[in-house]
Formats: sequence, structure tokens, C-alpha cells
Amino acid sequence: MLEASGLMVFYENMLALNNVALRCGEDEIVGVFGANSAGKSTLMYALSGIMLDVEKKERMAGGERITLAGEVRYRGRDIMNLKASKRARLGIVLCPERRRLFKESTVLENLKIGAYLATAAQAKETLAYVFKIFPALEKLKTRLSGFLSGGEQQMLAIGRALMAQPKILLLDEPLLGLSPLMQAMLMRAVREIRDERRIAIIVTEQYARPVMPIVDYAFILENGSAVLEGVRDDLMDNPDVKAAYFGV
Ligand code: ATP
Repeated sequence: MLEASGLMVFYENMLALNNVALRCGEDEIVGVFGANSAGKSTLMYALSGIMLDVEKKERMAGGERITLAGEVRYRGRDIMNLKASKRARLGIVLCPERRRLFKESTVLENLKIGAYLATAAQAKETLAYVFKIFPALEKLKTRLSGFLSGGEQQMLAIGRALMAQPKILLLDEPLLGLSPLMQAMLMRAVREIRDERRIAIIVTEQYARPVMPIVDYAFILENGSAVLEGVRDDLMDNPDVKAAYFGV
């Protein structure tokens, strides 16, 4: 469904992504794991098209040059030069790291803002679905999102992304700073979303362990390169991989 090959991103002369190839099939959950600065957010920006906006902004500010090369295909179509807003219309929706909520707006307002690409009927149906998978949000719907806990904020960020009617959801470090209990609950919810809505999902994280139970396939990023990949069970069965990457 979403496929990247030969993806390269330079920030000035620093290579942030080095010839990365990755694919995510329909209905699949794909994990991308890597340490701080491995290039996870850069990859999500390249897949979602945000990188084009960042590159343009930097160019207009006369600042540092960002160079982007390679290929991104969505359902067979080359989308490398398509802006993020256009990719979102095709169903490629990014849920960015650190959530980026509208803190001065309520939970319900945040969700409604997320529905900018939806018809009224879709928005109504999806809102009911978001409250079904995250019942805590319904109870908090009039609360300003700045006053939510980290876990509630992440539920809201995922809920808001769902309101945009994704066909593939890009989740950038959704578990950052959350308790193990909340991490497990969120991962169960993500799997439920895939199962019930048939949405493909690419999820990045620093630590693979809480995410592994739900992925079909995973990639390991190191210094901008995909150094290892495989189906979940193969990766989990490899003792070296387990010790080095999964802390188990
Ligand atoms: P983290 O877990 O810290 O979010 P990450 O795996 O998401 O890390 P990226 O944010 O993609 O990593 O960053 C990859 C590398 O590119 C890092 O060395 C980072 O400092 C650098 N980098 C990211 N954005 C920029 C930018 N706008 N200008 C210059 N360098 C950047």
C-alpha cells in the first residue's frame, strides 16, 4: 500500500536517511525501531510529505538546505512530489511525535478539527468510534486538552488522526513518556483500530518491546539506515536480535 525505496534525506551535509526501503501492506502494522536520532521522525516526515513543507520553509528562510531523494509510492502511484495536504486527502495521515494538540481547545474541538477532510456523516460516525475505543475521552470531552494526562493526550492525538479518515496511519513515537500500563492499553487500541477499521499502520518507537506484540513486520533503523527487517516472529526468535534490540 505504501512503499518507499532509496529514500535519502540530507540536512545540510548530514545524512539523516540513507537509502531506506520500506513497505507497509493493506491492513498491516509495521514497526520502525531505532534509538534517538536514528531518523524515525525524518522517515515519517518523508512518508507523510511534511518534509516537503519543512524543506520549503527552510529554503524560503534562506537557511539550511534539506535534500530529499528517492521514491515513495502509495497504491502504486508515485507521490514523492505530493504535498502533505494532498497525501492526507489520499488517506496518509501523520500522528506526530509529542502529539501536537491544540492545547487551548477542548477534547471535542480537537477531534472536530481533525475531521476537516471528513463529510458530516463520516465525522459523526468516527467520533462515536473514537469514544468507543477511548471511552475516557468521552468523559473528558469538554476539558481543555492542555489539562489532559500524557496518556489521554496520546489517545486524543490518535483519535484526531482517525477523524481525518486515514487509510494508513503514521504513528510517530506514540508511547513516549507513558507508563507501561498505558503503553499496553494504547497498543491494544491500535491493533483494534487496524482490525476494525482495516487501516494500515506504521508505528515508530525507540523501544520495540511494547510494540512488538501488535506488529506484523518490523524494521530497525540505525544512523539513518535500515539495518534489519523481518516478520515479527522471525525477529523475536533470533536471540541476537532479541538481546540487542528488544531488551528481552
Ligand atoms: P528521536 O527519537 O529523538 O525523535 P528520531 O529517530 O526521530 O529521533 P530524527 O528526528 O529523524 O530522529 O533525526 C535524525 C537526525 O537528523 C538527528 O541527528 C537530528 O539531529 C537530525 N535532524 C532532524 N531534523 C533536523 C533539521 N531540521 N535540521 C538539521 N538536522 C536535523
